[in-house]
Amino acid sequence: MDAEHMGADLDEILFTEEDIRQRLGELAEQVWQDYADKDVLLVGVLRGAIMVMADFMRALPGSVEMDWMAVSSYGSGTKSSGVVRILKDLDTDISGRHVLIVEDIIDSGLTLSWIRTNLLSRRPASVEICTLLRKPEAAKVEIDVRYVGFEIPNAFVVGYGLDFDEKYRNLRVIGTLAPHVYS
Ligand code: 5GP
Repeated sequence: MDAEHMGADLDEILFTEEDIRQRLGELAEQVWQDYADKDVLLVGVLRGAIMVMADFMRALPGSVEMDWMAVSSYGSGTKSSGVVRILKDLDTDISGRHVLIVEDIIDSGLTLSWIRTNLLSRRPASVEICTLLRKPEAAKVEIDVRYVGFEIPNAFVVGYGLDFDEKYRNLRVIGTLAPHVYS
């Protein structure tokens, strides 16, 4: 799905396919250097992170393993509450493993903070976070994010895996959703 297919539902394109590809390439290079002597396990959070995971892991110049979690963050509409329930747990035993959480977006950070604490309780060697997007203004919790693709303003974005009401995940670009769609 291209930006023009969204018509008036898309306010503004923030990142094109090329912007995303290039930035993920840079992050992959940095991650590969940092984990040069370590065996990293990529952990994605369904469903938003599917595109980031697919492109990020292909940009890595060597083989890595991946696993997925699905969580539901209780909240309404476009806000999350930080109260999290695991819908699908990891299949991998992460004890002693170097885990890199691959995320699409960090808004308040509440969901990721909960996931990180949960994973740390399983005694991994390390847990770091890589996110394509971060909204700094919305930070409600201190969360140490090692790899950030782009800092974005505090607006609701869709595309490249990010949905509104399960729509627009297949939009190639990342853009802001027009307020008339959700208000
Ligand atoms: P947080 O707990 O950091 O506030 O948000 C967690 C989840 O809320 C994200 O993983 C994502 O699924 C969703 N979310 C937060 N901001 C946005 C946004 O701007 N657009 C979309 N589509 N989802 C968002």
